Amino acid sequence: MVKKKYYITTAIDYVNAEPHIGHAYQKIIADALARWHKLKGEEVFFLTGTDEHGKKVQKAAEKAGKTPKEFVDEVSVKFKEAWKSLDIQPNRFIRTSDADHQKIVKEFIKKCDKNGDIYKGKYEGWYCVGCEAYYTERDAPGFVCPIHKKPLEKLEEESYFFKLSKYQDFLLKLYKEHPEFVLPNSRRNEVINRVKEGLNDFSITRTSFDWGIPFPLEKGHVIYVWFDALINYYSATRKKGNEKFWPANVHLLGKDNTWFHTVYWPAMLKSAGIELPKTTFNHGFISFNGQKISKSLGNAISPKTLVEKYGADSVRYFCIRNFPFGSGDDGDFDEKVLIERHNNELANKLGNLVSRVRGLVEKNGLEKCENKLLKKLKVDKISKLIDNFELDKALNEIFAFIDICNEYVQSKKPWETKDKKVLYELVDSIKAIAILLFPFIPETSGKIAKQFDFELLLKNIDKPIKVKDIKKGEILFRKIELKDI
Ligand SMILES: [Zn+2]
Repeated sequence: MVKKKYYITTAIDYVNAEPHIGHAYQKIIADALARWHKLKGEEVFFLTGTDEHGKKVQKAAEKAGKTPKEFVDEVSVKFKEAWKSLDIQPNRFIRTSDADHQKIVKEFIKKCDKNGDIYKGKYEGWYCVGCEAYYTERDAPGFVCPIHKKPLEKLEEESYFFKLSKYQDFLLKLYKEHPEFVLPNSRRNEVINRVKEGLNDFSITRTSFDWGIPFPLEKGHVIYVWFDALINYYSATRKKGNEKFWPANVHLLGKDNTWFHTVYWPAMLKSAGIELPKTTFNHGFISFNGQKISKSLGNAISPKTLVEKYGADSVRYFCIRNFPFGSGDDGDFDEKVLIERHNNELANKLGNLVSRVRGLVEKNGLEKCENKLLKKLKVDKISKLIDNFELDKALNEIFAFIDICNEYVQSKKPWETKDKKVLYELVDSIKAIAILLFPFIPETSGKIAKQFDFELLLKNIDKPIKVKDIKKGEILFRKIELKDI
């Protein structure tokens, strides 16, 4: 049988700043979704990477006394390391400076040109260097950047344009026929309303700096960083063996990138004659201890620092459990809440269940029987929630079952009865819990699977666990004192 394919991408991060927990949030979710599909036995391709071109990077490199290439080489490594520390395992880490990506971008432009969608003109507009973007007065009242709060620069340059205006009807039809193209629903309505107002062609080349992919139709122009960056999702699948993964099942992105991904990107693909991705999921932002995440917050929010303090699984668990990803709403990263959840949910509920049951099994042994307890685990519901991006609710369901197991221990008192069948039901249920938790806290699930000797695959939930000696295991989670912040 041919395996089902699943291709998930994250936004590629702009390398003018170092990785912080805001970047990490999206990658953790993507990794969990990729692992979930692996757990189901699907063939998965998970892509992340760095967005490395543009004036902002060229300026940052100059400031650091480096060439742009030296600069991006150093920063991209920091992103890679941050994801590794969080157990985030992409199949490819793409960099827009990669030779294969650059080649595909040039070919892509030639396809759009062949379709009559590229023309030369003059661009005059209000530009924010920080955003690498031109603004209209509507989006930047008073010509002040809404993000950087700095005055915009008036720029005029010779530029090539992409005929976005031609694609208005196509896009409106796309959102109507495939509402799942823009999720969650609230974001789709915003996009539709704006597209209905009409679309302007957009400038896709620059001549005022040279750190970019050379424009294939005229020397002296480099390709606008957004046009280059979006194509990464496609170019990553052009390597031999990866072609089958296109079109992507889902692009995860922050809501600030919605316009580029739901308007520019499908129009570009249509122009180049390439199939569209199935879904773009536009999530909310997270703040940190009540503050908007910014460079000035510095090391406090570096993913590596958080992992050193709390462990990868606790950071992952907190990010997925605490924020309403599926609704697209914003959330706040509060370290106190992380510690509370670590102590109450991971250490007290999950950790205690596993260590208590293991201790009882070591003393009393197991006897195979029908696991009636497992019937209370709502696997279908959890599965639907994850497929619907409601990962926080899925974790809530898994932990509701952990509560049921803990109550079962209390009411059956196996330390008195020495009932080997009750212990069997509990061990078999712990197996199911560990399998379902694998996408979220993979290291912990791996430890449990090793102690109780089973393989982490979704189909093994219904496969009764073997009765054999249980290995001694380490404590899964140590409690953290609140003063450790
Ligand atoms: Zn700006």
